[in-house]
Amino acid sequence: MSSILITGAGRGIGAALAAVLEERGHDVIRGVRKPGSTGAGKQIALDVSDRASIERAAAALEGQKLDIVINNAGIFGYRGAGLGHIDDAVWHDVMTTNVMGAYRVAEAFLPHLRAGSERKLVTITSRMGSMGANTTGGEYIYRSSKAAVNAVMRSLAMDLAPEGFIVTLLHPGWVQTDMGGPGAAIDTATSATGLADVILGASHAQSGGFFNYDGTPLVW
Ligand code: NDP
Repeated sequence: MSSILITGAGRGIGAALAAVLEERGHDVIRGVRKPGSTGAGKQIALDVSDRASIERAAAALEGQKLDIVINNAGIFGYRGAGLGHIDDAVWHDVMTTNVMGAYRVAEAFLPHLRAGSERKLVTITSRMGSMGANTTGGEYIYRSSKAAVNAVMRSLAMDLAPEGFIVTLLHPGWVQTDMGGPGAAIDTATSATGLADVILGASHAQSGGFFNYDGTPLVW
């Protein structure tokens, strides 16, 4: 049984992933912006765009071991962020949540992960952050945020390797959520089941890697 923290776990992929991991007998703490307002399970207040909120959550769990921390919280900004249609304030917010938030969560919960026995740090990124898979252009805001978080986690994989950490980046698929929309390719249960398999099965050989929810390696 692993103890697992998931950010943005009140709805969408994060909620589905929490449910799958709980079904498998793991102890899941769901990071949500407003505890009690949404979903079930064990919840903690955690707004990843607010450094003080992250630090409060880490302090609230001080002395508690975590085996796995999953950075799932993310925002898209708006659709159609193409050339000539860029809102600086939205770009700033997306980078604050998707990039700096993921980094700050990793940093704040390092002591908890060091006390645990698996030392896994997982980030739900996107294939839209891939350079090699970008054949259609556009969406500067979201793409740049996911490319940046990939770079951050790749560095963390190297920096934390001497301590035995496993740091991975996972694409959840195109998923039917508020972000993915109703026409997306897969439902949250399919994504979450695949993600859970990849996360629980991740080994040191996979650290620093970028994978699809079915475990297939993705191009950077
Ligand atoms: P949703 O928009 O359905 O849900 C987003 C979740 O993130 C919500 O729980 C939301 O909480 C939370 N969140 C947003 N901002 C913050 C914040 N500042 N602090 C804490 N939590 C926050 O998105 P998905 O479930 O679809 O996406 C989950 C992850 O998967 C994201 O990182 C996304 O980029 C990624 N992804 C999704 C794809 C898809 O097709 N759906 C494809 C590729 C990647 P609240 O309820 O409080 O708003």
